[in-house]
Amino acid sequence: MAESNLGPSANGLRVAVVGAGPAGFYATDMLAKHGASVDLFERLPAPFGLLRYGVAPDHQNIKRAGVAFERTAQLANVHYFGNVAIGRDLGVDDLLRDYDQVLFAIGAASDRKLGIPGEQLHGSVAATSFVGWYNGHPDFSGLSFDLGTERAVVVGMGNVALDVARILVRRTAELGTTDISDYALAALEKSAVREVVLLGRRGPAQAAFDQGELVDIAGLSGVEVVIDGEVSNDGAGELSGPARRNLDYLASLPRAPSGNAERVVRLRFLASPKALLGAAERVTALEVERTALSVRADGSVSARGTGIVDSIDTGLVIRSIGYQGTPIPGLPFDEQRSVIPNQAGRVGLAGEPFDRCYVVGWIKRGPVGLLGSNKQDAKETVDCMLGDADKALAERAKRTPGAVPGLLRERGVRAVSYADWRRLDEKERARGAERGKVREKFASWQGLLGALDET
Ligand code: NAP
Repeated sequence: MAESNLGPSANGLRVAVVGAGPAGFYATDMLAKHGASVDLFERLPAPFGLLRYGVAPDHQNIKRAGVAFERTAQLANVHYFGNVAIGRDLGVDDLLRDYDQVLFAIGAASDRKLGIPGEQLHGSVAATSFVGWYNGHPDFSGLSFDLGTERAVVVGMGNVALDVARILVRRTAELGTTDISDYALAALEKSAVREVVLLGRRGPAQAAFDQGELVDIAGLSGVEVVIDGEVSNDGAGELSGPARRNLDYLASLPRAPSGNAERVVRLRFLASPKALLGAAERVTALEVERTALSVRADGSVSARGTGIVDSIDTGLVIRSIGYQGTPIPGLPFDEQRSVIPNQAGRVGLAGEPFDRCYVVGWIKRGPVGLLGSNKQDAKETVDCMLGDADKALAERAKRTPGAVPGLLRERGVRAVSYADWRRLDEKERARGAERGKVREKFASWQGLLGALDET
């Protein structure tokens, strides 16, 4: 195979990429620049995955990464098929019959459960739903959240938990120019929430969030961040580096609100949720058990219950304990880790490859890492794909290239092209401009697809 200055060439290779989020886009860009022709399939009409529907509306600087994805989508050898769900409209077998290689970048679409009594009560919700709701995701825009409670509890100490807490406490005037959905802004304007308690089952040194994200909340007008209880790493050894700096920063925060703030974010460590209590099917309190730290043989730090239990009165418990990958029919799935098993991106276990199928992003490595982590991840998978390209091309005669658009027509699937998306994009920006906002998303399926029918 000819070598370009980018490395091995993929000239003539036809690839289907499933999932138009950041991981799918980084991989598409690399494949296309190596000469492959890429068809990019997305279940939603709109592209960009978590960049559009996960990144918080007051983090517009992060959303600017979308400019690079827009360039990728407009490369001559990249074609976008929005509103096409693999596993419903097309099977994995349909893709393998048409394309030389198929890359799954389907992310982690579901949420992890706490598995404690009372989790099903009204007022007990997943952060993924709340995030999807304020971001105008068509699967979540129809939900409603009871913000009539004075105190909300967010379980988890990751960056998503901080996003959720920040949206709940930030002055709505500061959100009014972003792309937050109008119905979410209206609900937040009426919100009675004055205190958000963040619960960490381990200690401050084990918190998963980035310190800068908490510093940002502490700097918000009218908001105070306080720590409930002592800040220590008792039972978990000496600290250095970023964990030490985190602990020092947390130790510098006040232990009690001054009484002058409009809203308070309270961080409570060494507290594990035990049960949601309710009345008339609604959450009224969260029972928590105090924990203590211990170090495992491998050096990792775990929390064990101490038997000391108390409860926090609240009408809203948002669990923010991580996203979870879901299986795709026709591919293997690791139930334990909720990923598609793979070797450096090649689907399958060692010695049992799943021919011509690859993974990238959260469905490959689990739901961790920032936007940029997907670049290195995509490079690893794309290197495998390029290494396997000769073999895939040599077997081309077994396939029927170009069959998919016909299948979609036969099955009555309305695929959204990139030109269609650009029309939607323009309309959303115009709707936003009318309201003094960056954009106003079409937040329902009907709204998204209906807007394409208008001239
Ligand atoms: P995460 O970083 O994995 O945090 C999950 C949190 O949930 C941890 O504090 C974890 O505690 C806790 N947890 C897990 N199971 C629990 C249980 N059963 N009971 C109580 N607590 C439990 O996940 P995430 O916040 O969903 O974020 C996902 C990824 O997206 C992360 O890599 C994050 O950095 C990234 N992200 C970045 C940004 C940003 O840059 N602004 C914004 C959003 C997300 P343990 O540590 O004890 O397990």
